[in-house]
Amino acid sequence: MTDANHPGASTPLDFSGKTALVTGAGSGIGAATAQWLADHGIAKLHLVDVDPAGLEALALHCEVEHHVHDVSDPQFWGGFERSVGKLDHALVNAGIGSAGPIAEQSFEEWRRVMAINLDGAFLTLAAVLRLMRANGGGSAVVTSSITAIKPVAGIGAFGVAKAGVAHMARIAAAENARHNIRVNAIAPGGVDTNIWNSGEAFQQAVATHGRDAAIAAMGADTPRGRFATPDELACDIGYLLSDMAANVTGTVLVSDGGYSL
Ligand code: NAD
Repeated sequence: MTDANHPGASTPLDFSGKTALVTGAGSGIGAATAQWLADHGIAKLHLVDVDPAGLEALALHCEVEHHVHDVSDPQFWGGFERSVGKLDHALVNAGIGSAGPIAEQSFEEWRRVMAINLDGAFLTLAAVLRLMRANGGGSAVVTSSITAIKPVAGIGAFGVAKAGVAHMARIAAAENARHNIRVNAIAPGGVDTNIWNSGEAFQQAVATHGRDAAIAAMGADTPRGRFATPDELACDIGYLLSDMAANVTGTVLVSDGGYSL
């Protein structure tokens, strides 16, 4: 298939000449996706994270611009839009973990999770869509969670924020398809990243059994029998961002090793 009307068909995973944004790029899924895009020829990456050390630890064979900022700061996105010029792809991914049943959730924790995981995703995606419209098109992926689809007891604010993120992707897909912009969501199950380090129960398990055993114990719940790696998620995200997924928009791709079955 090398039809001129299907320009992605001959080189669907080639990102050469393209510019992408990845938020939460200093660790885990974001870092792995930045690496995946660099490995697939991306020309330029804008990497956003609150943690400068995580960004500096990446060694990528492409042009890279670091933005050490909080994604929930609207002023940052105003400046980003004015300065960035061209944007072809985006992974809207920065997020924090949080556990706690709704009846026991403090309003402060609820607001903290919504501010970063939902407001931050909105500010990022809105800026991305405006840049892509000006650019004549593009593709974006937002990081949701399996907890957006399967109600998991004890994951209140996080699950609600991630359900909002998934629905935001669907609405944005409907609004922007005629602008040649695709928007999809990825819904990971458990992935072995630093996000788990913040949980109190996890810290206790790590103190008792060590980190590898604590992660393995949680992964044992899934039909696959283990957590995913960040690199596995990067492949799913790379597919959605690429021309391989030219007809895919407004979908939520579940990548959970069967956890939701
Ligand atoms: P991670 O902790 O390894 O990476 C998250 C990155 O986001 C970190 O580098 C962190 O510094 C950054 N970040 C956090 N708040 C930020 C902010 N306000 N502004 C800018 N950067 C910020 O975790 P991860 O697992 O790679 O998480 C990536 C995304 O995947 C998150 O949205 C998370 O909710 C989602 N997710 C993860 C899992 C999992 O099991 N790891 C499952 C479902 C969904």
